[in-house]
Amino acid sequence: MHRGMGDAACEFNPEVDGFGDQKMKGRSWDLSVLIRAGRAVLLGRQPVLSIEITRECPLRCPGCYAFEPGHLGKAGPLRQLSDLQGEALVSGVLELVNRFRPVHVSIVGGEPLVRYRELNILLPQLSGLGVEVQFVTSAVLPIPTSWRELPNLHLAVSVDGLQPEHDRRRAPATYERILKHIAGHRLNVHCTITRQLLKPPGYLEEFAAFWSEREEIRKIWFSLYTPQEGERSEERLTPQDRVKAVEELSRLRARFKKIDLPQGALESYLRPPASPEECIFAQTTLCVSADLATRITPCQFGGNPVCTECGCMVSAGLVAIGRHKVAGLIRVSDIYSFSRRLGEQLGVDGRTAA
Ligand code: SF4
Ligand code: SF4
Repeated sequence: MHRGMGDAACEFNPEVDGFGDQKMKGRSWDLSVLIRAGRAVLLGRQPVLSIEITRECPLRCPGCYAFEPGHLGKAGPLRQLSDLQGEALVSGVLELVNRFRPVHVSIVGGEPLVRYRELNILLPQLSGLGVEVQFVTSAVLPIPTSWRELPNLHLAVSVDGLQPEHDRRRAPATYERILKHIAGHRLNVHCTITRQLLKPPGYLEEFAAFWSEREEIRKIWFSLYTPQEGERSEERLTPQDRVKAVEELSRLRARFKKIDLPQGALESYLRPPASPEECIFAQTTLCVSADLATRITPCQFGGNPVCTECGCMVSAGLVAIGRHKVAGLIRVSDIYSFSRRLGEQLGVDGRTAA
């Protein structure tokens, strides 16, 4: 995929699924989507399915959580997991979708474009089923032009900063290749903010200006780097860095209209969930790895992520929504937790991948 350093935030499309802040203002937020998702939870299902569709990736990005040794726990490293190809992959994914009936599917990797032949068959079928699909890529390979016709497909490309830094970290998915491969498409760009990106003054502003001018880009997303327990890395943000990032993004979102970061989500970066149990995103997303059987826990990051330093954009957006009160009375997070408990008591359990 390109999941950058913890940029699984873009595995889920808040706009499509009605979780963007534009939908939280007054009556404009999409209650029906929340109800559909809540209904799935009540039935013991997780409304979002995230699939690492391949273990392969031609990139070696520093800080990539997918290829950390602990990503899949006892199942071993992702690169050693068996993965499916051809008809087995297409039917395997469709079987998962039929079994779990998600509202939304995120396709990530590895780099999912390495399976473009299978995806040329699979994506139209998912579209025919009415499933919203978020596809996250490094754009290291061309994005098939036929995908432009798929109404339920939402593309996101991961970019790690401006060209010099990005090209150093993400070759061979360089700026030159990305710009060539996204030409004619409409998609979102996603950047995970690491410590390095906060150091040069005006860096994020320059990034926002560059991508705002590209006609292919619909929205610009920013996540914060999410570390694993015990991690000491150049990417990890300090508490002061997080405050600085939120202040900077609050300023930039007012200036660059393509930045899609609800103020509530931004504030949630400073108050993330304390644990996976408190994380609506983790509780409502079933994450499956490349053999289509191994579950990734506790969330898409796998391993042992530091929830209190979570920078996942979608998790933050859902925290903001969870704190929102329906009709000014009941918090959305309480509705989800009630539905989940009720589903469990009814003995309905669709939570295992295999
Ligand atoms: S492009 Fe590949 S190496 Fe880079 S972050 Fe994504 S999965 Fe990891
Ligand atoms: S809060 Fe924790 S469980 Fe939720 S997405 Fe972030 S790291 Fe994962």
